[in-house]
Amino acid sequence: MSNTEEQPHLATAELELRRQQIYPTLNDVEMGFVSRFGEKISFGDGEQVFHAGHPTGGVFFVLKGSIAIFRHDGFDNNVRIVTLRPRQFSGDVGQLSARPALGDARAIGEVEAIRLSAPQLRALIVAHADLGERIVRAMIVRSVALFTKNSGGPVIIGPRTHSGVHALQSFLTANTHPHVVLDPAEDERAAAIVAQCQPSREEWPLVICPGIGIKKNPTLPELGRCIGMLRPLEDKVWDVVVVGAGPGGLAAAVYAGSEGLSVVMLESRAHGGQAGASSRIENYLGFPTGVSGLALTRRAYVQAEKFGVEIAIPASAGKLDCSKYPLEIEMCGTQERLMAHCVVLSCGARYRRPAFPNLRQFEGKGVYFGASSVEAKLCKDEEVVLVGGGNSAGQAAVFLSGHAKTVHMLIRKQSLSSTMSSYLIERIESISNIALHTESEIISLEGDENGLQRVRIRKGCEAEECDYDVRRVFLFIGADPNTAWLRDTDIELDKHGFILTGTKQARLTLQTSIPGVFAIGDVRAGSTKRVAAAVGEGADVVAQIHRFLAEKGY
Ligand SMILES: Cc1cc2nc3c(=O)[nH]c(=O)nc-3n(C[C@H](O)[C@H](O)[C@H](O)COP(=O)(O)OP(=O)(O)OC[C@H]3O[C@@H](n4cnc5c(N)ncnc54)[C@H](O)[C@@H]3O)c2cc1C
Repeated sequence: MSNTEEQPHLATAELELRRQQIYPTLNDVEMGFVSRFGEKISFGDGEQVFHAGHPTGGVFFVLKGSIAIFRHDGFDNNVRIVTLRPRQFSGDVGQLSARPALGDARAIGEVEAIRLSAPQLRALIVAHADLGERIVRAMIVRSVALFTKNSGGPVIIGPRTHSGVHALQSFLTANTHPHVVLDPAEDERAAAIVAQCQPSREEWPLVICPGIGIKKNPTLPELGRCIGMLRPLEDKVWDVVVVGAGPGGLAAAVYAGSEGLSVVMLESRAHGGQAGASSRIENYLGFPTGVSGLALTRRAYVQAEKFGVEIAIPASAGKLDCSKYPLEIEMCGTQERLMAHCVVLSCGARYRRPAFPNLRQFEGKGVYFGASSVEAKLCKDEEVVLVGGGNSAGQAAVFLSGHAKTVHMLIRKQSLSSTMSSYLIERIESISNIALHTESEIISLEGDENGLQRVRIRKGCEAEECDYDVRRVFLFIGADPNTAWLRDTDIELDKHGFILTGTKQARLTLQTSIPGVFAIGDVRAGSTKRVAAAVGEGADVVAQIHRFLAEKGY
């Protein structure tokens, strides 16, 4: 392992300014608080404090000596990020829930420290709000820095255009987990790993998981387990199981966790749900300049962890057994079952998939249902087609116009006025590289194993058909509720598949037709499909859960 001190000029100016926030030095009073929650531990000079990819054992508040923290790049070339001095502490936000380390740490000199496990750390943060704020802020900024510098996470090895690479990369990006993508055609270290592993066609991409080793074409749950986002869940009766970590589910988890209920939240893909795909939310209260959906929901995710919510990603609820009480939820693809007094269904909606026979062939290889930084990089200086006329399509068009050469926006209607907010229409009109094509639709996709090459479009009232050589198409054509998995239950749905609530007991407006099962947010019939509405219902449902549990005598 080669270790070199990180050069100061490598830090961005912004991060340098925030150094004090990132590595605060606590005062004697604060160290006194810390010592009441943890226990003393010592390390000899040069001893490893923790290893990347392995549990850290807790957060270390240095009393004597120093702890050097090293960036981990997956190839044993480590760079020192920082040396923690007395009254400074280790850890990023992952330590709120005992996730594996993203870096390595070694003692310099004889070290004495106070170690706080994740529950002890959370107890300290809740008991001492001012100190808690400094600690959590430092951890958030460290996590952002690790993500921005792609430090400490898995290394994905494969051709940049490979759909498997895209799937893993978008999963990690959506969960703001640091990672690196290396194309063996461009990177010698990646080429050496490929030569060593000799992957067959089905075994691409390769992933180096710190602390674990090389995985061939891992599934998302496998990757989730490698990076510690998916762990075995405690076998007990949970007060609340929340299904879906969009804004509604996150709000329910935060309120329930902060009010002392035991909560586990299952999420199929990434925290943030649909809102996580929004490049800029401008109508959420308190953010006059707008906020990206990822930033907003990442904060909520950390907040939920702070209150001890157990979050499992990627973990899909596959079956809900309402014939028993406690209720039982079976997770997809595993035999794992969770028991719960209450279940909150906040599983939202997902983009409609048009009925092109070869759509699946191009998903992630030219056809996308979201526009994040991953897709933005792919379409740099290209002509792209974006289908849809709602607010989400408008936001995506504005975002992509900053990267693509031209964004061709296709809508079936004659104008955007009935489907999009006026502020977005005005913005789209003012951007010269967004071309709006009214009364237009895609009628077929063409390409080969390398991806999409061409689309056939029907345009205007004359229904003229023409081919466009574009390699990226973004589809934002409305959403269907994620309720197919509830088909075998007695939960009443409306004719479009949205969940009906308030039908049994008028007082419990968010309860479904099954006692103890609640539904909130976009998946609920009649809900307002907005972030604020989902968050409001997330708060409201916890009050209703308390009422339900009190009536049950819990
Ligand atoms: C691109 C875009 C931009 C938007 N912009 C705005 C805006 O500017 N302002 C605004 O107010 N609203 C906006 N919206 C709408 C807003 O995002 C939604 O109203 C809001 O996200 C709904 O929250 P939710 O928690 O109910 O559901 P969702 O956000 O849909 O989250 C549901 C979650 O449940 C998960 N899930 C589904 N099934 C399962 C299962 N079986 N097991 C486990 N997990 C499951 C999904 O993966 C998802 O993460 C936008 C939507 C999009 C797509």
